[in-house]
Formats: sequence, structure tokens, C-alpha cells
Amino acid sequence: MNSRTLNLTIKIFILFSAFLLFAGKLYSKCAQRLEVRGIVSSWVEADKDYLNGRTDIYYYFEQEDVIYTLNIGGPVKVASDPFYNEEVALGNSLIKKVDRYIGLDFFQVGKREDADLIILAVCVPDTDLEGIVTESYDGTQYIMTLNGCNSPFSDRNPPETLFLHELGHALGLEHPFDNTDGDCIGSTDPWSNGSAHTGHTLMAYRNPPGRVKTFFTELDIAALQAIWGKD
Ligand SMILES: [Zn+2]
Repeated sequence: MNSRTLNLTIKIFILFSAFLLFAGKLYSKCAQRLEVRGIVSSWVEADKDYLNGRTDIYYYFEQEDVIYTLNIGGPVKVASDPFYNEEVALGNSLIKKVDRYIGLDFFQVGKREDADLIILAVCVPDTDLEGIVTESYDGTQYIMTLNGCNSPFSDRNPPETLFLHELGHALGLEHPFDNTDGDCIGSTDPWSNGSAHTGHTLMAYRNPPGRVKTFFTELDIAALQAIWGKD
């Protein structure tokens, strides 16, 4: 190898290393610590636009047999599986507890048309979907749909975690493994050992070692307070 070729090789090597460094920054691995930005979503601004400075949130539990049209990339009709009073009581107690931490105030309303947020249960056994937050088809309301029929509730899978996970989405939280907005925690694979678990944030999928949490974690509360302020 003459000195000219060597020189060129070194230059190419330097360029290549610079490229790797740059690519490493662009496609950086997920943060390995619990940071708020890792679960704050990109739809927070849309939520804030919708509220337009308002801090009162009106919500409604569907306790009647009704057909809803959800907007899931197009109209999808679902039949409600009306909530029992005990389920509404549990949901209300969770919402009250969330209300005490963040700068929003929640009020239950008796008419679905008065609600910003409709909380809807469905029974769809043959799907992976446990819950989803969508806009109503006319775009005027949020609908938080909980599927009570795809995985039975248990100690490892209590109803509180599903309810709060979906409420978290409605309030602007994203999955910790979601890297579409350029930040994630742990890993982009929700089920890998390196991923965040629900002991870190209820927005995770993976169960924690030990006890399952039945309320938002410190990280979740910190993220909700970063978005909505403190109570
Ligand atoms: Zn989710």
C-alpha cells in the first residue's frame, strides 16, 4: 500500500467513523433511565388544542346498550357492554385519585353528549386489543374503549391497570417503547427483558417482578404533571 492509498484509506475510515457516530445519535438506543419525555406523547398538543385552556374535563360512563362508531383509520362500529355500578365506582375512585395530582378537574356527567371523554366497555373475545383511545367519528369527543373479554382479569392483570393505561393515553401519555417521536425508555421491544415494565410506568406492557401496581407510578405522575401542571 503506497502512502497515497494509505492516506485515502485513513480518510475513508475517519469519514465512516463520523457517520457511525452521527447515525448512533440519530438512531440512539432508548434511554436507560426513567425520564418523563420517554412517556410524554406527541398528541399532547392536540389534546391541549381541544381543551383550549379549559381545565375541566367532563366524562361519561356508558351504562346502556348503544352502538358506537369509533374512528380507527375509518369507521368501526362497536356495541357497548354496559358498565356495572361497581365498575363505575372503581373508575370514579381512580379518576378522583388522578384529579388530586394534576391540574385538571374531572366531572362525571349523566349525558353522553355532554362529555369530553366517553368511557366505553366492549366485549370482543378474539382480538389482541385490550383497549384503545380514539376520537368519536365526528371528532368532537374522545372515546376510551376497554375490552373486558380478551384476557380475564386476575392478580397479575387487574382492571385498574387497563383502566389507567387507557386513561393515561387519553391524558397524553405514550408507551415507553414508542420511539416514533424520538424518545423511548429501556427498549423498543415491549416484551424484551430490557424494556420498561409496569412497575416503572403503567404505560408499559410487561409485568414487573413482584407485585403489580394498581395506580400510576411516580414517573407517570411526574409526566402527567409536566403536561397538565400540579393540582
Ligand atoms: Zn397502550
